[in-house]
Amino acid sequence: MSNGLVKKRIAIFGSTGSIGRQTLEVIDANPSAFSVEVLTAQSNDELLIKQALHFKPNIVVIGDEKKYEQVRTALASEPVKVFAGEKSLEEVASMDVYDMMLAAIVGFAGLRPTLRAIDNGKAIALANKETLVVAGDIVMQKAFEKKVPIIPVDSEHSAIFQCLIGETRSRIERVILTASGGPFLGKKPNFLVNVKRDHALQHPNWNMGAKISIDSATLMNKGLEMIEAKWLFNLQPDQVQVVIHPQSIIHSMVQFEDGSIKSQMGLPDMKLPIQYALAFPRRIPSGFPRYDFRKPNTLTFEEPDVKTFRNLILATEALNKGGNLPCVMNAANEIAVFAFLRNRIGFLDMTDLVERTMQELPFIEHPTLEEYFDSDGEARNFAASLIKL
Ligand code: NAD
Ligand code: MG
Repeated sequence: MSNGLVKKRIAIFGSTGSIGRQTLEVIDANPSAFSVEVLTAQSNDELLIKQALHFKPNIVVIGDEKKYEQVRTALASEPVKVFAGEKSLEEVASMDVYDMMLAAIVGFAGLRPTLRAIDNGKAIALANKETLVVAGDIVMQKAFEKKVPIIPVDSEHSAIFQCLIGETRSRIERVILTASGGPFLGKKPNFLVNVKRDHALQHPNWNMGAKISIDSATLMNKGLEMIEAKWLFNLQPDQVQVVIHPQSIIHSMVQFEDGSIKSQMGLPDMKLPIQYALAFPRRIPSGFPRYDFRKPNTLTFEEPDVKTFRNLILATEALNKGGNLPCVMNAANEIAVFAFLRNRIGFLDMTDLVERTMQELPFIEHPTLEEYFDSDGEARNFAASLIKL
């Protein structure tokens, strides 16, 4: 599908994760449109090696330095450079071996390599929403200065992005982010207090990595996405609305100042927004299953239960107040989710941990990048100190 054009060279940061693997599926189905130049993984050396043998990238990076020898030995007969460690991620992001970074690392760890890629003038297909939650002002400003496009991969933001194509002179009244509600839609605190990790990891509509699955169950994912939307589309906090839509067919909507609403729809499959971001500004064909309006189906919408899922209130506060508060909230949430996944704290304790950390840390209205890193570290330490050993 290259239409005689050169292949787009893709660097996948976080290639062994849910988004990374689905990105490779899209590329595998479109070998004339894309080539894989960089693959990175934190610890799954076996899958990284398998991916490298199949896709023949220029460079692979394994985050965990203890696994460097294994990866190097397994790929010794391949013309591929192998690097290890956190610093290598930034160094490789600064190299001129790719055209677009698919930012699919999970959490705060994705921020530095993505900033380097922007500095390097490379287009970003952004799955790692935490990058914008933590330091959206700095990331977007840098992207603007470097004329780097940031194409969202998150399905809601891809939907909004698609709705805005051709609307350069239209004023947005609001964006409406749809949320499935996660596995505990309709449940109350007396149920949630006993929820365990394996139940929380089972999302009804999407098969995702562990962290975002828990975030979806607590609705923190939608909170992070509100802040992500603010930065991507330059919105005021009151222009971002959340509505529960359990079927995940409408991926999000934009309401313009004339009252007209546009939505982007489709079956829930992350390969769709991934492929859209990779191929942008074109669309390329896909064999993904299609939504059939003729079959009996009902699309429903309701207001989120913020009394039960208080993370949405915390995220709204972070969205409104700005400064380092979203960064602090994100850091505490990463600690909370990590602890919950290890059965160290209960489901409802996650929100309490985030709330107390947000109350405790000093507020900085206009943080520098270093101050964001410091706030992240301090919030992690404080949140961790609240977890009883
Ligand atoms: P995942 O846990 O399945 O994969 C994460 C990837 O990042 C892996 O390749 C892992 O090796 C790498 N990684 C983890 N920690 C790292 C570290 N400290 N340093 C370097 N690399 C590290 O996660 P995922 O579900 O694929 O999500 C990735 C990102 O995309 C997240 O920010 C998530 O919010 C976002 N996202 C995911 C989905 C989805 O359907 N999975 C949808 C929308 C957005
Ligand atoms: Mg999403």
